[in-house]
Amino acid sequence: MPELPEVQTIANDLEKKIVGKTIIGFWSDYKKAVRPSFAKFRRGVTGRKIIGIERYGKMLVLNLSAGRYGLGGDYSIVIHLKMIGHLLFKELGRETSKFFEEKINQYIHHIIYFKNGDTLAVSDLRKFAWLRLAETTKVGKMKEIVSLGIDALGADLSFKRFEKLLEKRQNSKIGTALLDQKWLAGVGNIYRSEILFEAKLHPERIIKRLTVGERKKLHQALRTILKKAVKMRGTSTIDYRDTAGKKGRFQNALRAYGREGEKCLKCGTKIEKIKLAQRSVFFCPKCQK
Ligand SMILES: [Zn+2]
Repeated sequence: MPELPEVQTIANDLEKKIVGKTIIGFWSDYKKAVRPSFAKFRRGVTGRKIIGIERYGKMLVLNLSAGRYGLGGDYSIVIHLKMIGHLLFKELGRETSKFFEEKINQYIHHIIYFKNGDTLAVSDLRKFAWLRLAETTKVGKMKEIVSLGIDALGADLSFKRFEKLLEKRQNSKIGTALLDQKWLAGVGNIYRSEILFEAKLHPERIIKRLTVGERKKLHQALRTILKKAVKMRGTSTIDYRDTAGKKGRFQNALRAYGREGEKCLKCGTKIEKIKLAQRSVFFCPKCQK
């Protein structure tokens, strides 16, 4: 499942590849995933230019210029890639990227066509991803966005703000709280284990018992790990691909996630696994106190 660093990588790619381009058409063979309806979506996006890309949690927002046809006002395309959906950008004349030949990149269900011949497609084996045309002023009010907590990569998540956030979940285990998107948006199962390993904190520690020093370490670890993951273009354990159909590289840098029974890279103790918030969390019982 794409987590925050993967969606941020896609947003960064789109910023470079599609901003300034005009949409001339839209195709879908799975219209149920297009909202409010396929016809309204196609009419609404055609003739508009992409003027900016935003990310809210794991949702991508493509802001559009005022259009010539159909709906008036400012509109945006909101995309949620859900379980394993991903976006593929194809430049006209460069259609033979060897990555597109990989099976995971061939479940194309939606395509946006640009005036210069480029295309942006959604490949999604499971068909859970969705696209929505929404008035730009209403995007922030969508229920999926309103319910999100503060963004884990947001510039405004200072240590002071993070401390206040911790106070709201005093009695929770830190490993449980980290997965609560309503509390902090963007940390999924993979990065939870990596952040706690970096911070040297046992996943079952109760938040109110963390010292100031530990809180600082946790805040630093959160920022360090997520930024490093964006730099390495995300984690492709199985299915995530970037807009060129290519894997990320952070799976090669994982130190805890998925390493149950293997030796800790710092101390040699065997990595253990427990369940917290219904998902597995991996940790070193010696390094993480
Ligand atoms: Zn260790």
